[in-house]
Amino acid sequence: MNGQIMETIVLVAPPSDVLVQRDMYSSTISKGHYNWPNTDLLACSGILRDHFNVIMIDAMTEKLSPSDTVDMIASHNPKGIVVAVGMSVRTEDYNFIRALKSKMPDAKIVGSGGILYHSPKSEMEELPELDACLLSFVTEDIRKYFQSELEGIENLVYRDGDQVVETAKTYPQHGYGYGVPMHKQLPLKKYQLSHGYSTPMASVLTSFGCPATCSFCVSGSINYRYRDPDNVIAELDELNRLGVKQVYFRDNVFLATRKKGIELMEKMVERNYGFKWLAEMRADALDEGTVPLMKATGCYAVHMGVESANQETLDRYEKRIQLDQYKKATKLARENGIRTIGYFIIGLPGETREDVLRTIDWALELDVDYASFNTPLPIVGTKLRDEALEQGWLTSEEASYDGSQTTVLKTDELSPEEVAELRALAYRKFYARPKLIVRNILGIRTFFQMRMLAIEGWSMVGRILGFANN
Ligand code: SF4
Repeated sequence: MNGQIMETIVLVAPPSDVLVQRDMYSSTISKGHYNWPNTDLLACSGILRDHFNVIMIDAMTEKLSPSDTVDMIASHNPKGIVVAVGMSVRTEDYNFIRALKSKMPDAKIVGSGGILYHSPKSEMEELPELDACLLSFVTEDIRKYFQSELEGIENLVYRDGDQVVETAKTYPQHGYGYGVPMHKQLPLKKYQLSHGYSTPMASVLTSFGCPATCSFCVSGSINYRYRDPDNVIAELDELNRLGVKQVYFRDNVFLATRKKGIELMEKMVERNYGFKWLAEMRADALDEGTVPLMKATGCYAVHMGVESANQETLDRYEKRIQLDQYKKATKLARENGIRTIGYFIIGLPGETREDVLRTIDWALELDVDYASFNTPLPIVGTKLRDEALEQGWLTSEEASYDGSQTTVLKTDELSPEEVAELRALAYRKFYARPKLIVRNILGIRTFFQMRMLAIEGWSMVGRILGFANN
């Protein structure tokens, strides 16, 4: 940049004693030793890299202490700091922001995360050390803010003297893009998924938001936009160059736009990358036209939100999918050698004990390779939360749920204790099956998979025998 010294912006995933995923406007404490790179910060790095000296720090993964992290950031004398904030660890993250501000009063501190997206003003009132909340991590607004181009700025709530200025919440255009995110600054070998393939691992976004509107999910409140496939390919080329062995497409729904997804995968086939990938997908995107192409591009697994065995429940929560589509999707995936990971919700309001038992049987009948049984979380920004508040189902007014272990709804049909007991039953019935154990052992292809199976297997024994509850 004309020999000019660029100012520094630090992008940081805060330190934490527990593994917590803070991105895509939600956060959960890792219940299966999983940990992936923060996608919000990566997108910001791509947007900022041509204008600033960008430093990325994943303090949690690097196991840095809060004071060491603050000192490390201060040593860069940053103009600004973007902090990933998680609802599950809100208190810790806010304390970290206070410590940053105390050490670097002149640095502008911007937060990105679910609670800041949905309640920016009230959160900023509680946390005067926070200078701004970022409402879209894929637009140019973060660059404009740090370059003080405030006229016409959007997607930020920021302080101006004593005032908190709210700007319009907008979405990027379809076909948006940004510079190649700075993956190489992250400890890619330290990221892992319990059903992962290998390391180094990177996370990539090919879209923003979700076109569906499932009322228990926070992603349904963020309008869907796809990213330019060529822009994604530039990032994948870089990851291939870096020797990444596994890519986790972190889209809320990968292949939500069939045409663009196929265009992207056709370009991937041409490049014949050396990595495998997995993604979250809806069952209705898995068909004869997509699954073989997914396999040809290195897909080894898909995550699917199955939720419930009851069509009435799926309809009530606006899932807009039919049960038989799950049957078809899991069968097709298996025939093509792609593993399936099903996500189920135990005890959505309106569901009885019998309904939940049917859901557990459904997990067995679909024969997914892994199942994750979760409890409904009335997260800020979901219709489920509004309904829970209205109906008095909340056992706590707390907004910062730990997505993996919390049972907070007392519905007309089930108490939190019954939901917890049914969840434990689901894990016992699903995982204590010799057929599944043998299949998972025979499915091992890498040393990494063997290691993770041993770790996860031990956790599962604990869960089944009752000495571990996560
Ligand atoms: S559950 Fe899946 S499909 Fe539904 S809104 Fe959330 S991300 Fe989208």
